[in-house]
Amino acid sequence: RQAFFRSDLSLLLERVGSGKESLSFMRRRMRRLAAQWAAAARRLDERLRGHHREQKRILVHVGFLTEESGDVFSPKVLKGGPLGEMVQWADILTTLHVLGHNLKISLSVKELQGSLGVPPGRGSCPLIGPLPFDLIYTDYHGLQQMKQHMGLSFRQHRCHIRVIDTFGTEPAYNNEEYATVNGYRTNWGYWNLNCKQYMTMFPHTPDNSFMGFVTEELNQTERLMIQRDKVNNMAVVYGKEASMWKGKEKLLSILHRYMDIHGTVYYEAQRPPEVPAFVRNHGLLPQQELQQLLRKAKLFLGFGFPYEGPAPLEAIANGCVFLQPKFSPPRSSLNHEFFRGKPTSREVSSQHPYTEQYIGKPHVITVDFNNSQEFETAVQDILKDKVEPFIPSEYTCEGMLERVNAYIQHQDFCRRSSPFPTANDSRSWSGNPPSPFLQLPNSTALIWAPNITAPACWPPLSALRLFLSPEDSSCVKTCQDAGLICEPAFFPFINNIEAFNGLNAQCESLEAEKNHVFPAVHVDRRECFQQKEPLLFSCAGVSAKHQRLCPCRDYIHGQVALCRDCL
Ligand code: UDP
Repeated sequence: RQAFFRSDLSLLLERVGSGKESLSFMRRRMRRLAAQWAAAARRLDERLRGHHREQKRILVHVGFLTEESGDVFSPKVLKGGPLGEMVQWADILTTLHVLGHNLKISLSVKELQGSLGVPPGRGSCPLIGPLPFDLIYTDYHGLQQMKQHMGLSFRQHRCHIRVIDTFGTEPAYNNEEYATVNGYRTNWGYWNLNCKQYMTMFPHTPDNSFMGFVTEELNQTERLMIQRDKVNNMAVVYGKEASMWKGKEKLLSILHRYMDIHGTVYYEAQRPPEVPAFVRNHGLLPQQELQQLLRKAKLFLGFGFPYEGPAPLEAIANGCVFLQPKFSPPRSSLNHEFFRGKPTSREVSSQHPYTEQYIGKPHVITVDFNNSQEFETAVQDILKDKVEPFIPSEYTCEGMLERVNAYIQHQDFCRRSSPFPTANDSRSWSGNPPSPFLQLPNSTALIWAPNITAPACWPPLSALRLFLSPEDSSCVKTCQDAGLICEPAFFPFINNIEAFNGLNAQCESLEAEKNHVFPAVHVDRRECFQQKEPLLFSCAGVSAKHQRLCPCRDYIHGQVALCRDCL
């Protein structure tokens, strides 16, 4: 069945319901952005004319909001607790609805059981009959609940699941056996999914799919109003909780020499928060009022926490400069309490690496906050600069609809991948089947040879650019340095002797092993290694002793998840 775009959100609002503060927050957001979604749907509909879009049956089970997981979030919505997740789930639900799919929402284990056809109270009995959904969106809490209640059918159906996973999960942590043996086991990982089934809040490692959320857009009148009303010496501090301001008195007093400082710190009437007296604290604001404040302000100042939230994008969209601390050394699960136990080794270079790397100056200034002089100079520069509102296209409604639509129509983790022979293939080491690779003129990269039929793959293999990394460099970095992005879907097609030969790796020997940096060449011994476990193909993996085979692809500027031929 064909899916048709929907511009009316009333059915969705009804399904989301209310009764909990978290749900009311999501409904308010959906309502406020309704016109923006409708306009985006019209534009994308126009662009996709002629493409068949299959309507899918989709279950959305929001695990962290179920009573069974303790629902620690809902009571904190009005008290300065994390709202990023709520923002993202509201936008995911809206995206799926607007794209015209058949949506069912579950917010409790009972609803989950009902939706899946598991008889209540029977614990972990397998489903009776086939899975009644094409896709299930959930989170790590929901995944656990499904495993508990689907019994043996969980394994069989898990390829239909998509996990909303803010910070991301890397392959080394996802593969249970490997994680256990090699010290990558955490409370969250080891689900043996295809890592593209994890969907992140920002484009972290391309081993995961980038889901994202949306930022409110300005119309022409609002743009003009911003130009007119901006107060050049007004700053808003990022941080809903007083704890985020602790120890920042010195920076605040420097800033106060130049600017009026506003805050939105939650407080209870009888206990005002501990922020300096010169700060004008508005208390936690409804999203809409925060937007109004950001429209007036020139500077949005991050103090290092929270990490990777939506608010900096909102500030930049409203014409603020985001000033944030650089982390040196970078923070990660290996050296920092907040990230400890998260299934990723990703290095976080600042409070908000996405804005640092993908947006940058003049909208984003990242400096060492331990150096007061550097901080002060940054403030002075910001006062001089004139900055326009900006939203990366991937954070607009149209961008999110386009991206999620491409995933829904093309990603299929139930089909057995790799029709092309790989690690277990029986071709002899010296045999010479025609190589599927060709060197790209004026480059060290290989491409898929046009005279060899490319196996079906999404993204299409025509986008492949294969590189040999320097030692101690991940494929994330290697592809980035070439102006491209690592594409894990291509790994099965480059895990072969032809790829090593084409890259002139000069292998002394070739073996297949389970290791998240393979396929790779040992730098000193020139031993070449293929990957034996497809779940361990990893863009993120890095090793000082190996040069890795890195499958890269192009991407659309402002829509890093998609290549030019991906739509
Ligand atoms: N927010 C809000 N009122 C405030 C401060 C923030 O509604 O006074 C909203 C903001 O618009 C953003 C969301 O809270 O969309 C999440 O903010 P943040 O970036 O702080 O991320 P979190 O740590 O909450 O996930």
